Amino acid sequence: MRQYVILGCGPAGRAAAAEVRSLDGTAKVTLVSREFTPFYLRPALADLVAGSLGRGAVVLQEPEIQGDPAIEIRAGSRVYRLFPHESRVLLSDGTSLYFDRLLLATGAGPRLAGYAARLRNKVHTLASLADAVRISHAGLARDALVLVAGEGHTGLEAVRAFARRGNRVVYLTGHTRFWKPGAAVSRSEVLHKLVSEKIEVLFDEAVMDILDLNGEGYRVVTSSRRTVDVGLVCEARELVPDVDYLDGSGIVVDHGVVVDTELRTNFDNVFAAGDVAQVFDDEGNWSRLNFGWLSAGRQGRVAGHNLVHGSGRSLAAEEPFFGELYGTKLLERWAR
Ligand SMILES: Cc1cc2nc3c(=O)[nH]c(=O)nc-3n(C[C@H](O)[C@H](O)[C@H](O)COP(=O)(O)OP(=O)(O)OC[C@H]3O[C@@H](n4cnc5c(N)ncnc54)[C@H](O)[C@@H]3O)c2cc1C
Repeated sequence: MRQYVILGCGPAGRAAAAEVRSLDGTAKVTLVSREFTPFYLRPALADLVAGSLGRGAVVLQEPEIQGDPAIEIRAGSRVYRLFPHESRVLLSDGTSLYFDRLLLATGAGPRLAGYAARLRNKVHTLASLADAVRISHAGLARDALVLVAGEGHTGLEAVRAFARRGNRVVYLTGHTRFWKPGAAVSRSEVLHKLVSEKIEVLFDEAVMDILDLNGEGYRVVTSSRRTVDVGLVCEARELVPDVDYLDGSGIVVDHGVVVDTELRTNFDNVFAAGDVAQVFDDEGNWSRLNFGWLSAGRQGRVAGHNLVHGSGRSLAAEEPFFGELYGTKLLERWAR
């Protein structure tokens, strides 16, 4: 009987768990999440903040996993360190999990730097259910001004969340990082949408300071010495793979956990899938990170197969494995 440990309960981790169980009838699987509500629809967080979806529609029921006695779910458990030579994962509560096969599926999260790290207690993020609930509990007036600093899909979704909530929004973003060329919607379409929604877009302006307005909002000072009084500041930049717990482990990390097209790391019994993985094909000479709910699930299924059989399934550089998005088209979501 093999012990499989899967770090992360997002689409990649869950798909891998289901695949392992379908291929190995005697498998014991432990799924770990640092979040106390491990199964929810991350792409719907903006709708939760906007108020167009309730918590019940965002939290997922997973009977296949939750009802399976061979799967143990360790919710509210943070992975602290990995010791691959000892086949051991150390959790922050001091307990250890031993594995025959391990999957890293810890996704990506916000990496706060500069002002956002310095002034962390004055800045919200929107990358987890806890973030969305915290925003909802922040006592933000419906018509208050919100400052979003961000870029790409996550920045745009944060802007939409507040705009649909009824807030006025000022969006600080970078000219070059604002929107990636080659995305399914063009930069000009996105900009047109923001302008038509009366979002004030400030390019290449940085937050320098955030001062507390006697507990009733914040005064933001920007790099052009402009001051903006806002009810809330939200940092929504591109997400980066969550790999801090791999420090000193010997697992090779570049932008994400480096894996081959079979999703294997530099350790034979350790795999990675979903947003945490950086798939590198030295024959085809390509390297890609994922962003997308559906593609993370596809990677999870491939990883699940290879966890059981050691190898046999591999990824191509194609969109279904890397950028397949859940949900309606980005700009159509703005419809009221
Ligand atoms: C605001 C926002 C909007 C998005 N919108 C869309 C969209 O519209 N369409 C779309 O397809 N995708 C969207 N995405 C992206 C999509 O959610 C991700 O691509 C997908 O969730 C990645 O799946 P994953 O399984 O790799 O990781 P995740 O879903 O990120 O799951 C990671 C798991 O690892 C756990 N974890 C992380 N670190 C640790 C640790 N140290 N210890 C223990 N557990 C840990 C987490 O608790 C979580 O369970 C959005 C993401 C965000 C943040």
